[in-house]
Amino acid sequence: MPEGDSLHRIAGRLRVLVGERLEAESPNGRVTAVASAVDGRVLQAVDAVGKNLLLRFDGDVVLRSHLRMNGRWRVRRHTDPGWRGSPWLVLRGREWEATQWNGPVLALGDGAVRGLGPDLLAPETIPADVVSRLRRIDESRLVGDALVDQRIVAGIGNMWLAETLWHARVSPWSQLADVDDEALESALSWAQQAMRAAVAGVRPARAVYRRAGRGCRRCGEPVRSRGLGDANRTAYWCPRCQPSAGSAEREGFEPSTSGLPPVTP
Ligand SMILES: [Zn+2]
Repeated sequence: MPEGDSLHRIAGRLRVLVGERLEAESPNGRVTAVASAVDGRVLQAVDAVGKNLLLRFDGDVVLRSHLRMNGRWRVRRHTDPGWRGSPWLVLRGREWEATQWNGPVLALGDGAVRGLGPDLLAPETIPADVVSRLRRIDESRLVGDALVDQRIVAGIGNMWLAETLWHARVSPWSQLADVDDEALESALSWAQQAMRAAVAGVRPARAVYRRAGRGCRRCGEPVRSRGLGDANRTAYWCPRCQPSAGSAEREGFEPSTSGLPPVTP
């Protein structure tokens, strides 16, 4: 799933259309009403908010795009070879054309993003403020669950979560109560800097994400993976560099002595 940094990159590409009155159509007919609502309007801004893109048109019309797993945007010049297939939405300017593929969320209005926490990549977002938000929720929640809760801070997905916690030496299985402010702030600062660099096209080598069973890049201990939280997202961590301070790890994972990867119940 694209995370916050990918959405900011896509927003940057779509901004070639800002300032133009656009033609809109829905070739596959899935979002005809949305297309007619923005057809003929001037695109005024494109914002990435967490994992959402907000295309703001004149007349206070806002088009929200959420890509989930398979959605994508393409931007090309009219002179480039044409697309094949049936995109959900085409936005056509004088020189550029944006096509949206596979939806799955193209909706009018920004109501759905009002409940989101601050976007970690927004210039005004300060990690210490996010720590304050974390301190206001149930402190028994696991760090690996709280940091991907988009209502608390928007933009971090599973990949950045795993990398961030490894760099900060914090276990995803620690409860918020067992991690001090300094560690949380340093984790969020690392995430913010690394994701901003990724927007600019620089991605660090992955330390733990999808590296289960391979050696930790710091200590050589095999990286572990296991489902975590209500959504059962797969957490990746080094048990030596990221020891859990609380009881959650004992509940959440049984040390494997067989050499086999842990089994998700
Ligand atoms: Zn390690």
